[in-house]
Amino acid sequence: MKDYYEVLGVEKGASQDEVKKAFRKLASKYHPDKKTGDEARFKEISEAYAVLSDEKKRSEYDTYGRSFSGGGGQQGGGGFGGFGFGGQGAQGFEFDLGDIFNGFGDIFGGGGGQGKPRGRDISIDIEIPFKESVFGTKRSVLLTKNSTCDTCTGSGAAPGSSMQTCATCNGNGKVRETRGSVLGSFTTVRPCNTCHGKGQIPKEKCATCKGQGVLKKEEEIAITIPPGIENGEMIRMTARGEAIQAGTPGDLYIKIHVTPHKTITREGDNLRSTIHIKLTDALLGSDYSVETLDEPTSIRIPEGVKNGEVLRIRNKGVKSGSGRGDFLVRVMIDIPQKLSRRARKLVEELKEEGI
Ligand SMILES: [Zn+2]
Ligand SMILES: [Zn+2]
Repeated sequence: MKDYYEVLGVEKGASQDEVKKAFRKLASKYHPDKKTGDEARFKEISEAYAVLSDEKKRSEYDTYGRSFSGGGGQQGGGGFGGFGFGGQGAQGFEFDLGDIFNGFGDIFGGGGGQGKPRGRDISIDIEIPFKESVFGTKRSVLLTKNSTCDTCTGSGAAPGSSMQTCATCNGNGKVRETRGSVLGSFTTVRPCNTCHGKGQIPKEKCATCKGQGVLKKEEEIAITIPPGIENGEMIRMTARGEAIQAGTPGDLYIKIHVTPHKTITREGDNLRSTIHIKLTDALLGSDYSVETLDEPTSIRIPEGVKNGEVLRIRNKGVKSGSGRGDFLVRVMIDIPQKLSRRARKLVEELKEEGI
């Protein structure tokens, strides 16, 4: 490992000011974004600076400095933490290169993170009835948002207009920008704002959008809500958010709210409801008509059905994949609260039968 003082080119007794100055000079020269850049060198400089600019780390380094060149070996690219000092007593020092580089991100204008600008996402809420959540449905919404201009399909050029070289960037598509920062001034290269990095601009601007390529307008958006969607689920429509000049539109997020059904509830892919049957039907068995989300369905109550027993109607549940869940019917037996004179007599006869 190189001597940190040598790396920064300062004397052992250099003041913090001198350390800082030396670092600024070297960092601006070797930053990987610069022509003269050298990533390995830059890391070295950053490591040296991280240690020497910190009084505590620097004094540790001064005390043990040379001795750990043999101990730690060559550290990998990401930061070097926890040097084993080969013994007790001495406390290893750690620092995270990530911190240092993150700091640079701002200074150097976001480093390598260039890319097209992205429009904003839009989020809307839609309420649908329970039944439509089971079978799927369609909705159409009107949104006023920045949309790609139809006349020029986003190019900003009048139809048929020829292109000319952008005067701002001389057709480069890029502009150099010099900014001051704590580390001195840096030159960054950004996409040209006039031509949005294309290097060419139309001779004649599109009249509809005044050359912007996007314009605020009302757009009708057809939304397909898939069967089986659950309350609170979100649908994402890629690129249906706000359009942005020379960039990618944001996304449209649709949050679905399902209005509960009066008598039917959902449990995964199954639907559930409860029916009340007469005591005699429980004893003798009977057919009942059950309200499902399809047409009313007849269900056979077997004789001797138990109170609370669940009967299953296949394939009348929630659509899922190629099939459907089931419809589960809970049977509740209504016990008569009052008996007529005759009914009481009959029940007493039943009792004699041992029922
Ligand atoms: Zn246009
Ligand atoms: Zn330009």
